Amino acid sequence: MAISQHDVIIIGAGAAGLMCAISAGKRGRNVLVLDHSRKAGNKIMVSGGGRCNFTNYYVEPNRYISQNPHFCKSALSRYTQWDFIAMVDKHGLPYSEKEEGQLFSDQKAKAILDMMLQEVSEVKAQIQLETVVEKIRQLDLSEAPNRFQLITSKGAYQCESLVIATGGLSMPTMGASGFGYQVAEQFGLNLLPRTPALVPFTLQPDEKAFTEPLSGLSTPARLSCNGVSFLGGLLFTHRGLSGPAVLQVSSYWTAGDQLEINLIPELDLEEHLKSLRHSKPKTELRTVINEYLPSRLAKAILEQWLKQPVLEAGEKGISVGDLSNAQINNIANRIQRWIPNLNGTEGYRTAEVTLGGVDTNELSSKTMEAKKVPNLHFIGEVVDVSGHLGGFNFQWAWASGWVAGEVV
Ligand SMILES: Cc1cc2nc3c(=O)[nH]c(=O)nc-3n(C[C@H](O)[C@H](O)[C@H](O)COP(=O)(O)OP(=O)(O)OC[C@H]3O[C@@H](n4cnc5c(N)ncnc54)[C@H](O)[C@@H]3O)c2cc1C
Repeated sequence: MAISQHDVIIIGAGAAGLMCAISAGKRGRNVLVLDHSRKAGNKIMVSGGGRCNFTNYYVEPNRYISQNPHFCKSALSRYTQWDFIAMVDKHGLPYSEKEEGQLFSDQKAKAILDMMLQEVSEVKAQIQLETVVEKIRQLDLSEAPNRFQLITSKGAYQCESLVIATGGLSMPTMGASGFGYQVAEQFGLNLLPRTPALVPFTLQPDEKAFTEPLSGLSTPARLSCNGVSFLGGLLFTHRGLSGPAVLQVSSYWTAGDQLEINLIPELDLEEHLKSLRHSKPKTELRTVINEYLPSRLAKAILEQWLKQPVLEAGEKGISVGDLSNAQINNIANRIQRWIPNLNGTEGYRTAEVTLGGVDTNELSSKTMEAKKVPNLHFIGEVVDVSGHLGGFNFQWAWASGWVAGEVV
């Protein structure tokens, strides 16, 4: 059986794998990228709502979640957002900043993928798709020391450096698999528990009765969980809650935790109602609520959450001057400290990333090489480093891929 020989084999033609191929290829290494999917860069294609939020102006280590918050610093400082922006500029691709430094392609996400594929081909790295890796083993001294052998559905390969860039578990329909974790286990590397993150919440039936009719409505909110809070859009869906602030806070939530939602984050509602009670006592409660919330949401809150004081007042509606301190406190609590009855999350089916993965204690932060297994590297999402929403996950994939490519 002929064995195809390479300096570097990268398993996974996603964001991290492609960047690693570019970086190693620039050094003249003979690089082969293997992927079991029919297409490279599936997640780049669907990212950022089809526009790829490829990085962020404000990349900081505190935008990443990991058991070791320092691990990401080295790679992020050596391949920065400015390096990626320079590549996008070199290719003349237009992009725009959305909120908080998030950079999106003005063209379809495919433009970013095409740029990566062009760079890969310029450095003469090869990509071979629809290839299932069946077996990996490190050759022993009597064979060819320090080389890996891969048996795949398309033949046998050997390489000096092996890079695992198979991503996380989210969106199995896009080619996600637990393969990278199996390789880590095979070589005795510790794995940290994995959970879906940047993921919408589902609700219990009683709570859904309130939210379902609001499906499609988006409103600014502050969401807090475990001492962390995010301000941003909250979107009511058929299944529960989504939107940027919901996805962000989901990365800090574990089953059983309470989530608190402030639907009027810009105001102290209790203080406001008390002050109106003195200054404009005839103001109707419904007018105040309507002023700060979208009308569908205001109506639902008045009819369902604040049913009692509103109904008691009858057709004429209740004025703030008629509200007791206890009622004001109750109204403010309902609207600004809503604790939804959660069922869970939508899971890996819709999660944008996986928290946890290969324990960073097992890897060099400079090269992403396994400390116990020379020439075996793990990059991208398979590693226990997950970013906030906003381009931080791609920046981690680019940075970790680049630094590994400089040494393999
Ligand atoms: C819907 C969605 C939108 C997103 N939008 C953004 C965004 O706008 N900005 C942002 O920063 N992040 C975004 N993300 C997150 C981002 O896509 C990931 O963090 C990033 O792609 C991780 O890069 P990676 O190379 O580690 O893994 P991936 O990009 O997932 O690549 C892994 C590759 O490995 C291959 N593979 C898996 N198993 C095997 C196997 N057994 N054998 C061979 N190949 C295998 C896969 O086919 C895939 O090509 C989004 C994620 C999703 C799901």
